[in-house]
Amino acid sequence: MSGQATIRQGGCGCGKVRYRVEREPIFVNNCYCALCQLQTGSTSSAYAFFEVEAVEILSGELVRFAQQTGTDRKQQIMQCAECGISLFFQPWPTGRHGISVRLGTFDDPSDIVPDAAVYVSQRMNWVTLPEGIPAFDGYYKPDDLLPPDRLARLRHLVEKHQADQHLSEDI
Ligand SMILES: [Zn+2]
Ligand SMILES: [Zn+2]
Repeated sequence: MSGQATIRQGGCGCGKVRYRVEREPIFVNNCYCALCQLQTGSTSSAYAFFEVEAVEILSGELVRFAQQTGTDRKQQIMQCAECGISLFFQPWPTGRHGISVRLGTFDDPSDIVPDAAVYVSQRMNWVTLPEGIPAFDGYYKPDDLLPPDRLARLRHLVEKHQADQHLSEDI
């Protein structure tokens, strides 16, 4: 991907939490896994993944909840302390270095198109998949899907997280 990044803003339902992102996402997923269904109460979740420093919290207070992921790891769900809207989560395998932003919390998510539909094998029976977006029964290999610049950004975060593991086993 090239060219100028769009500056995007978003926030929670009550307006207390506001954030701003100046980079393009490393990747965008539309996930149909059972855990995303549980955590959103819906058919799937859609999120954009960034370096953690790319997401600037402008206002408001976030509360964090640790939840299991499908791979037996923990992830941190971040919600507005006032209204409880879930805005962000920090998944394995990049630990604290990466952050996923739920697409629906952007003021205008209309130009952000997922790179992939993932874990579609777990979707509810009646759910049809989006047209023109590669769909995977499980997860995809980033090397197969992401352009080199975004792959390099992802690899950099994975390396930073791996370096952390030498300091602590539980991040
Ligand atoms: Zn709120
Ligand atoms: Zn999922």
